[in-house]
Amino acid sequence: MKILVSDSLSARGVDILRQAGFAVDVKTDLTKDELIQVIPEYDGLIVRSATKVTAEVIQAAAKLKIIGRAGTGLDNVDSEAATRRGIVVMNTPGGNTITTAEHTIAMLVAMSRKIPQATASLKAGKWEKKRFMGVELYNKTLGLIGLGQIGTYVTKLAQGLAMHVIGYDPYLAPERARQLGIELVELAELFRRADFISVHTPLTPETKALINANTIAQMKEGVMIVNCARGGIVHEGDLYEALRRKKVAAAAFDVFEEEPVKPDHPLLTLENFICTPHIGASTEEAQENVAIGIAEQFVDYFTRGIARGAVNIPSVPSELLSQLQPYLGLAERMGLFQAQLLDGGLERVSVEYAGEVANLSVAPLTVAVLKGLFAPILEDVVNYVNAPVIAKERGIEVKEIKTSDAGDFTSLIRLRVETGTQSHHLAGTLYHRKDPRIVESNEYAVEVVPEGFMLLIYNVDRPGVIGSVGRVLGDQQINIARMQCSRAQRGGRALLIIGLDELPPVHVVEQIKCQPDILSVRLVDLSKGL
Ligand code: NAD
Repeated sequence: MKILVSDSLSARGVDILRQAGFAVDVKTDLTKDELIQVIPEYDGLIVRSATKVTAEVIQAAAKLKIIGRAGTGLDNVDSEAATRRGIVVMNTPGGNTITTAEHTIAMLVAMSRKIPQATASLKAGKWEKKRFMGVELYNKTLGLIGLGQIGTYVTKLAQGLAMHVIGYDPYLAPERARQLGIELVELAELFRRADFISVHTPLTPETKALINANTIAQMKEGVMIVNCARGGIVHEGDLYEALRRKKVAAAAFDVFEEEPVKPDHPLLTLENFICTPHIGASTEEAQENVAIGIAEQFVDYFTRGIARGAVNIPSVPSELLSQLQPYLGLAERMGLFQAQLLDGGLERVSVEYAGEVANLSVAPLTVAVLKGLFAPILEDVVNYVNAPVIAKERGIEVKEIKTSDAGDFTSLIRLRVETGTQSHHLAGTLYHRKDPRIVESNEYAVEVVPEGFMLLIYNVDRPGVIGSVGRVLGDQQINIARMQCSRAQRGGRALLIIGLDELPPVHVVEQIKCQPDILSVRLVDLSKGL
């Protein structure tokens, strides 16, 4: 595997990749054209915020399977173009949570005690004790907008300073807020009650200019505002006016609508405005965390197929990943198995999760089924990223069902597929919670290890069938690894499944088809690594 690191990345990250056996090139400051020129030879690309991974770059990236952002924001990566090409895009959420939360508290304290202004005054040779009268944080109300990773860690730190934390986040479960000791309130109430306000949401159409002249008007006289999230959540022009009139006593920004900030930005002229140049995540620990994080995620992806931190596939919480992993293999094999028994284009796919598995987050399993179903059918590479897109583009209806009824099994995945003329059913389970087995194929109860090469031989249930098939294979020196027969009723249609150590030549399959009482023969290839 060849990995290109195109922005500066902490050395620990590069070491991890090299120790895992990847060839790593660190080439920073490439121009757009240089990047387009070198990218075709790489399987993976790691960036921070400087490299612009545009649709044009992605188009040129013939072998690229994964783009990793060491950090959170993905403004510089065209994720949609990557998804269309089946490229995983991942970031390292959480790697800079603590650092950014600490920066928020640092800004809160610096702002309330005018530390930057006092430092500048002292360095200018003055001793202005009276000028720098501050306010305490103790017992004050801190209003947090956005209670994700950073917002919740800021909560903990602020509670340590004996602040009363109220919060607004329409997507946070009230139960979770209670656990965190945050009083959840509506936005209007937060504006009315907070002595300090700090924003911790992404920049979205909903949060753009969330703090503006109108909302500032609802706030307390002398409120103080922090933005260490994204430029534009606080309207800069409206804030400037409010700071000038002292309606807002002070504000502290790490982020701006336009970065880098122009030296003549009006906010920079105000005494009661303090700022830092987007350094919320800039600590040695955070840089190392995100570098190690993205490197480990790359190793996991290339060696175990696990896409932690992927933003363009259903995300799997890491604590669930180990439970989900064996089912992912089963689901994909079921799709692959079923695909090889189909004639005609798929129209409908339904995946039913029964028993214990239904308690897991099953969306990635459905994607795994689709990946398996499409892999033998399509020319293009099918993966976890583009499989749902392919289903949609091909007008295939995909249904996901959960039920508690798993029959005799603790967990069962039932796959039903329909073409214009056929409908098939397959069920699979895990033995000992890890070994995949197919346990039903249409009307037949079976017990198939889904791996290697298999012949599915539909026949009339009469003596001599197994013998004749065995003789054909034996004459060709083809070893039988496993064998299964199943029938719905004596003397009726039966299914013989033979697991083989090698791929039987076409003429052998044809010879088996000609044996007495054989109705049809299908070859299923599950030999390729998933
Ligand atoms: P997160 O995704 O964990 O949390 C975001 C929270 O915002 C979520 O809980 C979400 O429910 C909430 N939210 C979304 N829309 C909302 C709305 N309209 N009103 C209220 N809440 C809303 O993200 P995080 O890791 O906590 O990061 C928070 C912000 O900090 C992001 O904007 C991120 O880009 C920024 N950040 C800045 C720096 C820096 O260098 N200054 C570093 C890291 C992160």
